[in-house]
Amino acid sequence: MRTMISALALAAAAAGAVPASAQSAADADAFVASAEKELFAYSVDAGRIQWINNTYITEDTDALAAKSGAEGTELSVRLALEAAKFEKVAGLSADTKRKLDILRGGIVLPAPTTAGAATELNEIATRLNSTYGKGRGTLDGKPISGSDIEAEMGTNRDPARLQEMWASWHDNVGKPMRADYQRMVEIANKGAKELGYPDVGAMWRAQYDMPPAEFAKLTDRLWAQVKPLYDELHCYTRAKLNEKYGDAVQPETGPIRADLLGNMWAQEWGNIYDIVAPKGAGEIGYDIGELLQKRGDDPLKMVRIGEGFYSSLGFAPLPESFWQRSMFLKPADREVVCHASAWDIDNKDDLRIKMCIKVNSDDFVTIHHELGHNYYQRAYNKQPYLYLNGANDGFHEAIGDFVALSITPDYLVSIGLLDKAAVPSEDKDLGLLLRQAMDKVAFLPFGLLIDKWRWGVFSGSIPASAYNKAWTDLRLQYQGITPPVERSEANFDPGGKYHIPGNTPYARYFLARILQFQFYKAACEQAGWKGPLHRCSFYGNKEVGAKLNAMLEMGMSKPWPDALQAFTGKREIDGSAMLDYFAPLKTWLEGQNKRRQCGW
Ligand SMILES: [Zn+2]
Repeated sequence: MRTMISALALAAAAAGAVPASAQSAADADAFVASAEKELFAYSVDAGRIQWINNTYITEDTDALAAKSGAEGTELSVRLALEAAKFEKVAGLSADTKRKLDILRGGIVLPAPTTAGAATELNEIATRLNSTYGKGRGTLDGKPISGSDIEAEMGTNRDPARLQEMWASWHDNVGKPMRADYQRMVEIANKGAKELGYPDVGAMWRAQYDMPPAEFAKLTDRLWAQVKPLYDELHCYTRAKLNEKYGDAVQPETGPIRADLLGNMWAQEWGNIYDIVAPKGAGEIGYDIGELLQKRGDDPLKMVRIGEGFYSSLGFAPLPESFWQRSMFLKPADREVVCHASAWDIDNKDDLRIKMCIKVNSDDFVTIHHELGHNYYQRAYNKQPYLYLNGANDGFHEAIGDFVALSITPDYLVSIGLLDKAAVPSEDKDLGLLLRQAMDKVAFLPFGLLIDKWRWGVFSGSIPASAYNKAWTDLRLQYQGITPPVERSEANFDPGGKYHIPGNTPYARYFLARILQFQFYKAACEQAGWKGPLHRCSFYGNKEVGAKLNAMLEMGMSKPWPDALQAFTGKREIDGSAMLDYFAPLKTWLEGQNKRRQCGW
């Protein structure tokens, strides 16, 4: 009899029929423990399948990835729905409460429980991802792959060809995704509602240890703090583009033409540094990509250099399996997703990166970024499954970038890449800062608007009939840029950016840009640095490494202000470190722009 009752209770629990009053805090603890076990096991298999799909795209691996993804969605939705019921139980421990929240809200694309919904959602998500991975633009009418077109946009200075690449990429890759994307939004929003969120965007914003509306306000506050710096950079860059291309291509006033900024999405502008570099002060005298090429360093060696930086802070070397299992180069004979990413397949030590590395300065920095993910993953690998994550997702993105800020000329000398005699003198600081700002500062409005668009799409304030217009409008409002060719609702330009078809929330990258300078300033203070902030390198400083590790090993176990405090001593995310770093540049830009009409 006894056995029968508990069997019935179990069946009822699986169907979600047991009222909360019948459950105790101990039941909640047991539920969380079993959920963690189940998710851990699933994640290892799913990780392997995703890895194969991303490094060998075929109909077969697409089908396997979609099936595994659907299973994962069903699993996480089931656990989320159960977690939602336990949250009302009295006497929950802080850890159990936190884990229940993570279970309820931690799904990027929640499927509703309707039969077939998880499958349909995952088929769409997989199709979108692969459409992007196999996407081609054209150059002189000939097909060109995603990674090649990205590189070409960085170096090509012919406005007609830039326009061709921009338009062909957005037309070929983005346009066909539109119907799928719209359907995906419908399904996932139903899933979010079942879990008690108004829509998917609100669910994403709920992941920051504060109410969703507060998080939106936080991003607005940070943007207001750094916008004056962006406005000066925009004004100066537009003037330089006008000098180079003339009024017909880039007028003196108004927005900047999006394809002229050295990047498909105009998200980082460092590739056109040669166009904006001020005479004299702007000649930094070296390019990391050229230094690497001159020394004959190959992609693998670049990764070794990145590993060396983390080793210098006291982190253990990467495991042998990292070198055997990572994908460092674009395979010649098959389709892969080249977009760089970092993986931890077994949640312990099976760390990998997936990149199509080219020997250039951008990829050198990207390697440090991806390795930052790997070292973070390994640092928190003793945490329970639901805490195997960054303090928030902005932290995860900031670690590698903060380390890369330490790639100063003096650091390049210390690893034998740059001659001591070639270190730029202090009068070249403006050039170094401008070069950095073209990437880091230029990115800020882009980092913010991707999710402003998606928050609007998910909430319905941007209707499907205005997907493209809303995108173009936000690009104008925040970035001050305009497409090189006429757009209409036949287009789906958001689809041309990986994170839209890839369904990766983007606010994390905006937060990371701000956080990395906050981390950097804290590290430099710990290292006793007294000079101008941008000249500091904490390479080789084990004390900084130990403090950093104290934050990393916490994973997601505590609210993010606790983690921030563990490393920086502060609990507020704040743009002032970034402003400090670029202060000399801002003064200089203001002088340059004095007689210009800024804004757009
Ligand atoms: Zn990343």
